Amino acid sequence: MQSKIQIKTPLVEMDGDEMTRVLWSMIKEKLLIPYVELNTEYYDLGIENRDRTDDKVTVDAANAIKKYGVGVKCATITPNAQRVEEYKLKEMWKSPNGTIRSILDGTVFREPIMVNNIKPYVRTWEESIIIARHAYGDVYSAVEIQVDEPGIAELVFTSEKGIKKSKVIKGFEKGGIIQGMHNTEESINHFAHSCFRYALERKRDLWFATKDTISKIYDHRFKDIFEEIFEKEYKNKFDAAGIEYFYTLIDDVIARIISGRGGMVWACKNYDGDVMSDLVARAFGSLSMMTSVLVSPEGCYEYEAAHGTVTRHYYKHLNGEKTSTNSMATIFAWSGALCKRGMLDGNSELVEFAKKIEEASRETIEAGIMTGDMASLSDSDKVVVANSEDLLDEIAKRLEAKMKM
Ligand code: NAP
Ligand code: MG
Repeated sequence: MQSKIQIKTPLVEMDGDEMTRVLWSMIKEKLLIPYVELNTEYYDLGIENRDRTDDKVTVDAANAIKKYGVGVKCATITPNAQRVEEYKLKEMWKSPNGTIRSILDGTVFREPIMVNNIKPYVRTWEESIIIARHAYGDVYSAVEIQVDEPGIAELVFTSEKGIKKSKVIKGFEKGGIIQGMHNTEESINHFAHSCFRYALERKRDLWFATKDTISKIYDHRFKDIFEEIFEKEYKNKFDAAGIEYFYTLIDDVIARIISGRGGMVWACKNYDGDVMSDLVARAFGSLSMMTSVLVSPEGCYEYEAAHGTVTRHYYKHLNGEKTSTNSMATIFAWSGALCKRGMLDGNSELVEFAKKIEEASRETIEAGIMTGDMASLSDSDKVVVANSEDLLDEIAKRLEAKMKM
């Protein structure tokens, strides 16, 4: 028996909820533990433990990622009123992803896993498209007012010294609606650094687009910050890597994306990224094949699947039924984290192992063995619809063969 691969610096492991929690332990048991001495610092972000610890565990996990640099997270329940009732929670705890994101102040990069028997709906796409979503501000933290009588809406800023800057938004004759939103220099700066860093790391062109022709101050500021940071800190590095940074209007970028071949990192403002990542996930196949990594401006990484806890499947599982839940994005969260940990530690054995997991996973699907969500999308002649466990066993079989080579 060969000795197991070591992990030098602990990897931050964040367990989660429902069906993905079930897959989590199966992935560890079948794909990881046989080959790796899993040196993880474990945080149980399952809803019961978040409740027990008054959500302190989520904050601790985020700080651990800051300390060690790399984490891997299982999907978690974001409680709503129904969940508070279902799990008898003390409070409607905040979204763990939101908490972690605000502590790391990161940007989320989403990338579909491509396999040769599932073709993107857009036939020119040959490589994946990575969406970088600025996960702070804009409409997500906007304040809104509805008015129902004549009056004037104004935008007012009062400095600490009491100096005011104001503009009339609209003189209303009847009712209407008003929205005020913001972003900060610091957050846009961090967004830009995360994007440039990630593009360099992946050796991909970086595209960024806003609506600066209409939003001459707000969106224009995003454009300027990116430009300033690029010229000052990244232009030479991009030249050396043979990649480019390219800014255009959001309308133009949409047209180019649809007729292009893929292969870029596409940086989006918060709302654009929210919408476009769903579009890209679906256009490449399925949300269950979408990976996600949060990258902080200091270079900390948190890997996860883009989908949720697959509640409907979990209830079937609790009923003793077999489910056909796709574990690909969760497997790739692990392989992404192990690969990054290996790279940061100069541990090539771990990097190689992570690549083998991904190869074994892709080859399984390319052999026509896949879960139900993928079967209808595939153009393989023969498709074997596997249940959750069988899919992992098939991947494990291929991984074992690779590890013997
Ligand atoms: P979801 O868990 O992503 O599932 C929605 C539907 O998409 C599923 O019912 C299933 O469709 C399909 N699906 C998603 N992932 C799949 C997979 N791996 N394999 C096969 N099918 C898959 O979203 P949700 O039902 O809206 O949310 C459930 C819980 O997850 C919520 O409590 C939410 O708060 C949480 N959530 C967490 C995260 C996160 O931690 N990152 C993200 C989103 C949602 P069929 O039922 O048709 O088979
Ligand atoms: Mg969305």
